[in-house]
Amino acid sequence: MTIDPAYILALYVVAVVLFILSLRFMSDVKTSRWGGRSAALGMALGVVATLLAYQIQRVDLLVGAILIGFVVGTPIALRVATTALPQRTAISQAFGSLAVALVGAAEFYDYNTTANTFTLSVLSAEMILGFLTFAGSCIAFAKLQELIPGRPFVYPGKNFVSIAILIVAAAVGVVLVAEPSQTILLPIMAALALVFGFLLVMGIGGADMPTVIAILNAYTGMSAAALGFVLNNKLLIVAGSLDGSSGFVLALIMSQAMNRSFTNVLFGGVGAKVTKAAAGAVAAQARPVQSLGASDVATILENARSVVIVPGYGMAVAQAQHTIKEVGDLLQEKGIDVKYGIHPVAGRMPGHMNVLLAEANVPYDQLWEMEKINPMFPETDVAIVVGANDVTNPAARTKSDSPLYGMPIMNVDKAKTVIFIKRSMSPGFSGSDNELFYLPNTWMVFGDAKKVLSDLVAALKAT
Ligand code: NDP
Repeated sequence: MTIDPAYILALYVVAVVLFILSLRFMSDVKTSRWGGRSAALGMALGVVATLLAYQIQRVDLLVGAILIGFVVGTPIALRVATTALPQRTAISQAFGSLAVALVGAAEFYDYNTTANTFTLSVLSAEMILGFLTFAGSCIAFAKLQELIPGRPFVYPGKNFVSIAILIVAAAVGVVLVAEPSQTILLPIMAALALVFGFLLVMGIGGADMPTVIAILNAYTGMSAAALGFVLNNKLLIVAGSLDGSSGFVLALIMSQAMNRSFTNVLFGGVGAKVTKAAAGAVAAQARPVQSLGASDVATILENARSVVIVPGYGMAVAQAQHTIKEVGDLLQEKGIDVKYGIHPVAGRMPGHMNVLLAEANVPYDQLWEMEKINPMFPETDVAIVVGANDVTNPAARTKSDSPLYGMPIMNVDKAKTVIFIKRSMSPGFSGSDNELFYLPNTWMVFGDAKKVLSDLVAALKAT
């Protein structure tokens, strides 16, 4: 059966529109679920259109591959915790980039003697990007999943060695384009790209992995778009370009929110600073702090008129979003103004807190972005920090030797009273001790966020 190419193109156009719409929908919490649905529908249409466009030789292999993908992918998608989303993204991206690189290699072996120089150049470039992204994504996954240590693997001349390997890989690619019959050069080029990807991400600390994943995502998109030119597949060109550009924009937003540059993320020795800061944190544990129990917190809250809740990674770990909502609702019933202050990189991925609070049905109009809520802290009676740490650390404003220095933070220290819920005095992701713990207006409440908040709900109900 042959399908009129015009129908295939029409399906591709619809898929492209759905991809663009999905990005639009995802830019707002209210419509973000539609973003996911729109992207999934676009992908399904793209797959169907591509299957219709070609004569399928082996239906059994095709059905088998779809079944394996379904059986492996469905439980992962349904069960993965939001705290593990960065590593899940890393591993699926590893598969995506490997697929792009292998299709590129297959195309090369098929057409190396007949293809023109432009096509061969694009193929070489996309294979280098694909293989380096595959290796980098695997390492990012292993670091985030704590299969290997998260600290950066640093040695003298690290950046020089990595860049030299990339240059040699590119040079081998150039020779391959000039002499396509020398097919032995392809595995050499692929191996060099894999080594470069491996060394690049091994040299970056675990704290930067989510940003690295966004950058690698951009590379995957670019290599897919390049492959689209080779295969003359317009859907691949557009989807790859969207993926590539959105990956870069995301990495840019994350870097800005952490006050870091791309080069600093990719080549900075963040791990060294973290170790120093962590050592400082241990020494600082001797400093006294004030602590309270849930019933005392309930009393403080009873007397407040305005409360801002600032969630962080610990809320996600404790899965305390529903209990936070209960606390917020109870306070509102008592006539207290309740807002939720969201830092752009609170948690382990952009939008992490928004996703969890939306899941708990916290109304969107109670969610306040950092820039909007910060000027309100001086008029806020109580700021409740739930499992957030780095994003509230005043050292980011004052201590030039802190790894957080320059990062915009939630100015909770300016609130009249700060309630800080966490399990211990241990530092946050950056390894820095938090000056906020020791301020005279801060009260620590030690314990798992869900347990503490459940006790607070009981105490508030009892009053
Ligand atoms: P942090 O990682 O700074 O701190 C989280 C705190 O939660 C910890 O201090 C921990 O303390 C506490 N915690 C952990 N489990 C629980 C629990 N069950 N109950 C109560 N508290 C708990 O988180 P933030 O959200 O403040 O900051 C995010 C960090 O991640 C920033 O440094 C940011 O730069 C980084 N990052 C974020 C990215 C993003 O896109 N969101 C991407 C890359 C990095 P304790 O163990 O004592 O309980």
